Amino acid sequence: MTTTQKPDPKQFVADELDLPFWEGAARHKLLIQHCATCDRYYWPASICMQCGKQDLPWVEACGKAKVYTFTVIHRPWLQNWAADTPYNVTVVELDEGPLMFTNVVGCGNDEIELGMPVEVTFTDLDGGGTLPQFRPATG
Ligand SMILES: [Zn+2]
Repeated sequence: MTTTQKPDPKQFVADELDLPFWEGAARHKLLIQHCATCDRYYWPASICMQCGKQDLPWVEACGKAKVYTFTVIHRPWLQNWAADTPYNVTVVELDEGPLMFTNVVGCGNDEIELGMPVEVTFTDLDGGGTLPQFRPATG
């Protein structure tokens, strides 16, 4: 049996640590974790790297970021993504500080630049699940 559906990201990664992130994405909220003691943000973290505090609460990020690094995939590692090639895999640096793996959408791969301002957008997948992705910032 073959399938052309992409895997639901929740099936790959959701666990106790990052389930709130995916639940937030489903509500079109970009959630990251915050240590109020140190005023540091994480995505995701089981512990504050500075003070050791656990059970860091999830807070909504502002959704603004800059492109930290990216690559363009021409040969997909799963055939389910073949129709999307070439596509980018990008790391953005959120305004709050954490780095986040994502994709930049809404522009050509050849228009992506290091340091480019981007803002979050949410893509609801046909098979379920929601991906936080980033597009060129408008303001
Ligand atoms: Zn801390």
